Amino acid sequence: MQTGPQNGLNLIAGEWVPAAGGRTFARRNPADRADLIGEFPESSAADMAAAIAGVQEGAAEWGAVPAERRAAVLEAAADWLEERAEQLTVELVREEGKTRAEAAIETSRTPKNLRFYAGEALRITGTSHPADDGGLVYTRREPVGVVGAITPWNFPLNIPSRKLGPALAAGNGVVFKPSPVTPLLAQRLVEALLAGGLPPKAIALVHGGAEPGAALAADPRVGALTFTGSTEAGRAIHAAVGPSRRCQLEMGGKNAVIVLEDADLDRAAQIIAKGAYGLSGQACTGTSRVIAHETVHDALLERVVRLTEARTVGNGLHEGVDMGPLAADFQLAKVLDYVRIGEEEGAKLLTGGRRLADEAGLFVSPAVFAGVSADDRIAREEIFGPVLAFQSAADLDEAIALADATEFGLSAGIVTRDLDRAFAFARRIRSGLVKINQPTSGMSMTVPFGGLKESSTQTFKEQAGDSMMLFYTQEKSVYMSP
Ligand code: NAD
Repeated sequence: MQTGPQNGLNLIAGEWVPAAGGRTFARRNPADRADLIGEFPESSAADMAAAIAGVQEGAAEWGAVPAERRAAVLEAAADWLEERAEQLTVELVREEGKTRAEAAIETSRTPKNLRFYAGEALRITGTSHPADDGGLVYTRREPVGVVGAITPWNFPLNIPSRKLGPALAAGNGVVFKPSPVTPLLAQRLVEALLAGGLPPKAIALVHGGAEPGAALAADPRVGALTFTGSTEAGRAIHAAVGPSRRCQLEMGGKNAVIVLEDADLDRAAQIIAKGAYGLSGQACTGTSRVIAHETVHDALLERVVRLTEARTVGNGLHEGVDMGPLAADFQLAKVLDYVRIGEEEGAKLLTGGRRLADEAGLFVSPAVFAGVSADDRIAREEIFGPVLAFQSAADLDEAIALADATEFGLSAGIVTRDLDRAFAFARRIRSGLVKINQPTSGMSMTVPFGGLKESSTQTFKEQAGDSMMLFYTQEKSVYMSP
C-alpha cells in the first residue's frame, strides 16, 4: 500500500491539470508533521471559471444518460471504494487525524451513501393532472444543470458523497471544491466516480481555499450551490449565490445534552463523552455543552471528568488511541484560544485544554469547564474541538431555555427515563436533530439531516427525505391539448 506523498491535480474539462499559475499547497499529517500527505493545486478564480465551463458541457452529456446507467455508475464507484477501504482508511487517518475506528466508519459508509443515491436515480417521478379541454398537464423533474459543492474537512468522503451522489443521480454535472485540509480524500472520491464510468467532463475537482470557493458560489452558470461548513463562510456564500439560484447550506452547531435527575448517570456520562470527544470534538453535531439538573450536576460532572481523563490521545494509527489530533494548525490555535477565553470569563477548567508534549502532532487534552454561564462565549460560540461546558438547571423549562440560548440549532440531546419529558423536549427544542438517550452526534444515512436557526438555510434537507432530491432537480409543468 502506498503511504508516501501523493501529489494531487485539479480535474478541469476532463483533464487532470495543475493550477493555472502552477501554485501548490502542502498538506501534512496532523499527528506527525514530518509526514507529507502531498502537494495540491492552489487554485484561483480563473481555474474555477474554466472548471465551470467544462462541466457545463459535461452536464448536457450526463443529463441525457438513462437513469439506470447513472445508477450503475454510482454503484460501480461504490465498489471501487469498498475494494480500497483499507487503503482509504489509512489515508483518512493520516490526512485528517481521525482514529482508525472513526475512519473505518467513514470509509464503509461512503459507498453505502452512493448506493442509496443510485436508488434515488431510479425514483425520480412526476405527476399528471386532468386539463379542462380533455388534455393533460404533467410535471417533469429534470436536472438543474451545473451543481456547485463546497465541503468541509471533517468528513472528507462522507459529506461530499451525500452531495455528489444525489446531484449525479439526478443527471447534473458537479463542480466540487473540497476543503484544502483534506484534498487527497476528495480526490479519491472523484477517482472512484471516474473509475465507475462517470464521463470525465461531468465532474470537476478544484482544489484550494476560499478564492475558488467564492468564485464557484458567485458564478451564475451554477444553478444550485450546496455547502457544508462554518456559519461564517456560509453567510458569505449565501450572499454570493443571491436570491434567484438555489442554495443549500448546512453550517455550525453548539450542541447541548440535557441530563435530567432520573437519568442513569453512568450511561449519561458515556453518552456525553462519546458525543464530545469523537473526531476530537470536530463533529458539527458533537456535544459541546452539558445542562445537568442541579441535583445530579456534581455527580455527573465527576463521572464525565473521569471519562475525559481516561481518553488516550495520539496518532490514530497507533494501538489503544481513542482520540486523534486536531486536524490543522488553525484548529489547534482556536481550541487553545477558547480555553483561554473560558478561563478569563471565570469558568472553572477542571481538566485538559493543554497542548500535549508531543510537538510532532496537533494534540490537545480534552477539556471540561464547570460553572459556565449562558452569556459566556464558550457557552454560545462554536469551538469545534474537545471542550465541554457544564451548566446546571432547576427544571426542564430552564434546561430547554439554556439549550436554546445560542444562534445554532443543529443537534440537541436529552438523557432521561421519563418519556413525557423526553417527548416534550423533542417538541419544544429548536434543533433540526433531536437525540433521546443518544449522543448528539451521528444519524443514520436514511434520515433527513439538517439544522434549524443559523445552522442551516432550512431550504432542503440533506442526506435523505422528501426534499432531498428536490434540491437537485427542477420542476416544469407541461400542458398538452388533445
Ligand atoms: P469552513 O467554513 O472554513 O470551510 C468549508 C468550505 O468552505 C471549505 O471548502 C472552504 O475552503 C470553503 N470556504 C471558506 N470560506 C469560503 C468563502 N468565503 N466562499 C466560498 N467558500 C469558502 O469550515 P471547515 O473548517 O472546513 O469545517 C468546519 C465547519 O463545518 C464547522 O463550523 C462545522 O460545524 C461545520 N460542519 C457542518 C456540518 C453540518 O452538516 N451542519 C457538517 C460538518 C461540518
